[in-house]
Amino acid sequence: MIQLYIPLNFLGVLYREIKQSLADMEKLFSLLDQNKEIADKPAAPVLQLAGNASPEVEFKRVNFSYEEKRQILFDLDFTIAAGTTTAVVGHSGSGKSTLSRLLFRFYDIQSGSIHIGGQNIMDVTQHSLRQAIGIVPQDTVLFNDTIGYNIAYGKPGATKEEVIAVAKAAYIHDFIESLPDGYETMVGERGLKLSGGEKQRVAIARTLLKNPVVMIFDEATSALDSKSEQMIQAQLKQIAKSRTSLVIAHRLSTIVDAQQILVMDKGRIIERGTHTELMALAGAYAQMWERQQHSYDTASNAIEAES
Ligand code: ADP
Ligand code: MG
Repeated sequence: MIQLYIPLNFLGVLYREIKQSLADMEKLFSLLDQNKEIADKPAAPVLQLAGNASPEVEFKRVNFSYEEKRQILFDLDFTIAAGTTTAVVGHSGSGKSTLSRLLFRFYDIQSGSIHIGGQNIMDVTQHSLRQAIGIVPQDTVLFNDTIGYNIAYGKPGATKEEVIAVAKAAYIHDFIESLPDGYETMVGERGLKLSGGEKQRVAIARTLLKNPVVMIFDEATSALDSKSEQMIQAQLKQIAKSRTSLVIAHRLSTIVDAQQILVMDKGRIIERGTHTELMALAGAYAQMWERQQHSYDTASNAIEAES
């Protein structure tokens, strides 16, 4: 019995591992599959940018669905003036993260158009488009490599000094130094598992190194404690300054200074304006604001379920 039990148990483990890697492969293929129709036009030019100046970003009557039968974004129309910050707020599932994926051209839209510096993103090379945009996603995926590599990825050929400088700016340097192998510590699925907040700081450092003209920040503030959040917020304001930025905000208190706030609901923009204008409107935004103020009064660290 025992002789039989051990190999079977071993097979069980093996089976689980094989199944898991098949699942990973499936994920990979579905990812490739999803994006197979996204291709550069023949002889597509590169995105033209005026030096380091941040360009205007424009969504013109954008309609989008991931799947045929379910439309996600409806007639989305807005402009982010060059060098300004637009914040997007709204309930979970309203389409905020989808916006950022479309600007990066992870998916093509069904109708309407998206422009950067007056150029339709479908007409320029994907490479030049993605060079121009830095994205700090809600959920950062790390490569199975060293933490140093994961930051340096933002800029091929970056020096050690540059990597350390951005790690300091993203408040992750001290943490990295405290690890046994420092910047050489392996992270990712097969290495040290980082917390959500740590991963996000790696993503911020990576983006700082890339130094893009357009910034997308999909806030995942729930991953950070409130002290780190304040530090990161100050840092992000600094990054966003004079850069065209799209900030998907969970805590409204972080976006009161944005030049424009879009309130989304079920794939539509239902309100837009500055914080002051939206408060005066006394609509959905003002209600969300009241609710968040209240939840912070009662529990100072409460995270709104409003992501
Ligand atoms: P938010 O960021 O505002 O929470 P998302 O943009 O992530 O919302 O999602 C908007 C809607 O699109 C949701 O209903 C979500 O289920 C759907 N969705 C998101 N990603 C996909 C996908 N890859 N395939 C199909 N539907 C998706
Ligand atoms: Mg989201």
